[in-house]
Amino acid sequence: MSDNFSCDAVVIGAGVVGLAVARQLAMKGLETIILEKNEHFGMETSARNSEVIHAGIYYPKGSQKARFCVRGRDLLYRFCQSHGVGHKKIGKLIVATRVDQSGKLAAIVKAAADNGVEDLKPLSKADIAALEPDLSAVEGLFSPSTGIIDSHQYMLALLGAAENQGATLVRKAEVTAIAKMPEGYALRVANDGETFVLNARLVVNGAGLWAQHVASLIDALPRRFVPPLRLAKGSYAILSVASPFKHLVYPVPEPGGLGVHLTLDLGGQARFGPDVQWLDDNDPAHIDYAVPPSLPRTFVPRIAPYWPGVREEMLAPGYSGVRPKTGGPENPYQDFHIEGPDVHGLSGLVNLFAMESPGLTASLAVAEHVESLLT
Ligand SMILES: Cc1cc2nc3c(=O)[nH]c(=O)nc-3n(C[C@H](O)[C@H](O)[C@H](O)COP(=O)(O)OP(=O)(O)OC[C@H]3O[C@@H](n4cnc5c(N)ncnc54)[C@H](O)[C@@H]3O)c2cc1C
Repeated sequence: MSDNFSCDAVVIGAGVVGLAVARQLAMKGLETIILEKNEHFGMETSARNSEVIHAGIYYPKGSQKARFCVRGRDLLYRFCQSHGVGHKKIGKLIVATRVDQSGKLAAIVKAAADNGVEDLKPLSKADIAALEPDLSAVEGLFSPSTGIIDSHQYMLALLGAAENQGATLVRKAEVTAIAKMPEGYALRVANDGETFVLNARLVVNGAGLWAQHVASLIDALPRRFVPPLRLAKGSYAILSVASPFKHLVYPVPEPGGLGVHLTLDLGGQARFGPDVQWLDDNDPAHIDYAVPPSLPRTFVPRIAPYWPGVREEMLAPGYSGVRPKTGGPENPYQDFHIEGPDVHGLSGLVNLFAMESPGLTASLAVAEHVESLLT
């Protein structure tokens, strides 16, 4: 036996992106239900990241990451202020440790300007020494619009704002099948031992690491609109002594990644990473989030060029997160992969694939975009 319910819009997944979309749709007067398979919202990638509000510096010009990061960043700072969400615009230093990296700094300034990020300030060796005496660098850049955020508070505020507009979160509610109906979709939901069917005109798949799995449950969606899933794990090492740095510190990017950088949380706790480890098993059900005990040892030689004072015993294995990618290491840069009716032809459906970094920063802009695809 299963009960039948209906609403205007269903958002699958209560991570930062799903919650932002639900708020956006509810603000438009749509009766919105958020379905989350876990016991609480935000227990997956949204709880396993660096909590950095990115400025939008490195992404290729015209990419969705560039557009949504820059717009999302501005929306996010405003949202944090108006909703009392903990955040701090602490700024970030991008540092060259060798003179032959000067060209890389110039390329970063150009890429940032292409994305509308015009506030990068050049730093001399003396400027860097004045800002961060423990840092070893020959020159650098300062990004004043980079910040940090309490991502849990942010999700709580998004959920509160969505609920104030009439949205409902159903926890322990896993979508197990989606059937196209003449007027929308019928979703089968396993809810704490029971099953119900939810009918909705609009469906947003914000299932994060499981977005491909959820898309494959939609009977009418041709398989060519479900991109491959590749998982890339990122692990952090925690600094067990007081942070010598007041700002975020990034070495100039190295091929394939942003380098082992330092971020801080709002309590001042410093962590290094995340690294990039491509997983052989791309099933999200098999993810092992354990951090290798050898991480501090492998990180030290990558940190030492900009912080000669680092010692292995100062670092402890921390936590990890996993990036949902649509391609492997041969194609390390991939954009967000958002598919609406304009792509797959099914009205009222948006699939959000590859919502990796800067998905937290971009969440409010992605939500605007999803609304525009549906209305
Ligand atoms: C290591 C790492 C560092 C990062 N650092 C940053 C950063 O500093 N700044 C930044 O802007 N971004 C960062 N990101 C990116 C950011 O964390 C993600 O873009 C964002 O959290 C994705 O949110 P989401 O809602 O799409 O996914 P998730 O948070 O994974 O949420 C998806 C939800 O869907 C639910 N779900 C799945 N299947 C079903 C189903 N069948 N039925 C019901 N519910 C389902 C899951 O349980 C989950 O709760 C980082 C990411 C990683 C991996």
